[in-house]
This record gives sequence, structure tokens and C-alpha cells, in this order.
Amino acid sequence: MTKQNVLASDTKSRVNLAITMGMSEQSIFTAATAGGYISISTPKKFPKKYLKNLEICREGRISAWVDSMRACSPTRIRTAPPLADHDQSSWIDHHPSALDMFEQIIDASKGKQIVMFLDYDGTLSPIVDDPDRAFMSDAMRKTVRKLAACFPTAIVSGRCRDKVYSFVRLAELYYAGSHGMDIKGPAKGSKYKKGSARGVQFQAASKFLPMIDEVYKQLVEKTKATPGAQVEHNKFCVSVHFRRVEEKKWNELAQQVRSVLKGYPKLRLTQGRKVLEIRPTIKWDKGKALEFLLESLGFANCTDVFPVYIGDDRTDEDAFKMLREKGQGFGILVSKFPKETSASYFLREPDEVMDFLKRLVQWKRPSVRARF
Ligand SMILES: [Mg+2]
Repeated sequence: MTKQNVLASDTKSRVNLAITMGMSEQSIFTAATAGGYISISTPKKFPKKYLKNLEICREGRISAWVDSMRACSPTRIRTAPPLADHDQSSWIDHHPSALDMFEQIIDASKGKQIVMFLDYDGTLSPIVDDPDRAFMSDAMRKTVRKLAACFPTAIVSGRCRDKVYSFVRLAELYYAGSHGMDIKGPAKGSKYKKGSARGVQFQAASKFLPMIDEVYKQLVEKTKATPGAQVEHNKFCVSVHFRRVEEKKWNELAQQVRSVLKGYPKLRLTQGRKVLEIRPTIKWDKGKALEFLLESLGFANCTDVFPVYIGDDRTDEDAFKMLREKGQGFGILVSKFPKETSASYFLREPDEVMDFLKRLVQWKRPSVRARF
């Protein structure tokens, strides 16, 4: 038997809880990250007192998620007291506006191929109460179309690939749905692809499809009792939306989700903006999807590539981190207020994202300026 430290991190309160326990046979934790997931499997002979501790830990995580969702909700943002000036300015010193830093960004990309990665909800479209009506504006679609004519461009979303395509409707893009677990390149191939790379199609978690179907059905049944709860089947993951649920019911809904997940140790929970998401415990996320797409485009181990990833959510942090680790390009967080992030820059909202994308197009093709 060996001793092992398990670190459960609560990013909201910035408290780290270390549990030292005896480990035999197999590891009970598969992962716990600042990105917010925890997955527990239960070995047959595991002592009950440890299981009790783990249960408490998991309860703590659920309430931390709900608290975090409250903190990010638009009503809460409107009523929250403003940050002290020095806190705000210190954050902006470390994460300046991508619009203010546009010239420096362009200088850094000189001689390299820019590749664009865009999250969808909250980045290209506003967060709305009904997730089925998260439409992007025609102006944004026109801008993304022009962007894709200038640079290889991918949409990376938690939504299922077909759903996000139905919103974006641009055949020339790469799409990575279900948090990057379902990737497909342009139907007609890409003009940007280097070398002998062929059409791109990749599904990282096919074997989980029956399990995801089963969990989706159980979640629909279990959450029926909570008015406004909406369960979305995203093919390789399931989203439970809190957007239309009264805030006082959020804890109850989170507990319902947790009770279904108890029976599925191979699935994990992550938290986004007013959403809990259930997905396979495979080592695959938006960061891995970004890496896969760069390789597919022929940029593996290249120094002449400059990836730019724009996203608003915790799940986008995996991609921001990947870029930091690779030392290539940078991430842009879409947020109206300071947040802990691995992104280098920020933009306040989808309108600013559109302005930034337009400036990229205008820089690449000055003749386009008059047509915007
Ligand atoms: Mg988003």
C-alpha cells in the first residue's frame, strides 16, 4: 500500500484541500483540475470512512459549481459591487484588451500563419435564456466568412457538431463539437492544408455513445421536476442548462444531476456558464482538439504557426493553457469582468470579438475595408 496525496482545488474560494489516504489496488480519483471536474470510481474493498470523505468532497464541488454559476450570472454581474480600481487595473495590466493591443499582436504574428479557433456561445453569439435560440447575427456570420477566407478557421464548441453547424452555417470552416470530441473539416477540403494531409474527421469517444444516450434519458426524467431545466444531447456529452431555472432551484438541480452521475464512474461533470456538462473521462478537451486540428492542417512541430483561440468559458481554459505550453499564439478571454485565466488578452463581449475579427481581415486584405 502506498500513501498518495489527492488535491481537490476550489478555485472560487482559492482553498486547496489535500487528502492523504492509503492507496491499494487502483487509484480512486481519475482527475481533479482547476477546470473543474472530479471523477470517482469505487474499488470493491475501499474503506467506508474514505468513501464518506470523498462524498463530502463531491458535495463541496457541487455547491462550488453552483456558487460559481451564480457569480457569473448576468443578474449577479449587474448587481455585484464594482471591483476596486487597483484590482481591475492590475488584471488588465496582465490581460490587456486585444483591441488595444492589436498592433502588437500583428507584430508578433509576422512571418507566421495565423490559425483562428473560435468558441461559439458567448463568443460569436450572446448567452440567451433559450440555448436553442443562441443565434449569431448576420453581421457576425459575414465577418467569420471573411475571416475564413483569410485564415484557417475552426469553431470549437461544447455543443454537438451538427447543432453548432446549424447556427453558423459556413461550410468552409472546421468544426469541433462536443468539446472537441467530434471534429470535421470542410466538406470540400481546405485550401490551407499543408503536405499530404487528407480530409479531417475524428471522433475521440465513439465507444461512449450508448452510455451518453442512457444518461441523457435518465437526466431528462430526473430533472423533469425542476421547472425550466433543459437537458441537451450533444452527441458525446450532455448539457444540463440552468439558464431558465430559478436561482433558488439551482442547488436542487445540481443534486439531481449528481444523483444520475453516481452510477457512471466513467463520466465526469464540468461546469460552464449556467450549465453542467457530462462527458467521458477521456483525456480529451478543447486544448487537445486545438492540437489535433493544428496537426491536421500540417502544423505539427512547426514554428511558423500562430494560433489564436477566443472563448468565454472555463472549458476554453484547456485551449488557453495548451497555447501557453506550446509557446505559440495566444488566447483571448471574452469576459466583462476579471477572471482567473490562462488567456493573454480579453474582449468584453461578442460585439468586440466581431470588431477584432474585422480588424484581422482588414489587416490581411486592406481592400476589404470598404465592404464592411
Ligand atoms: Mg462559450
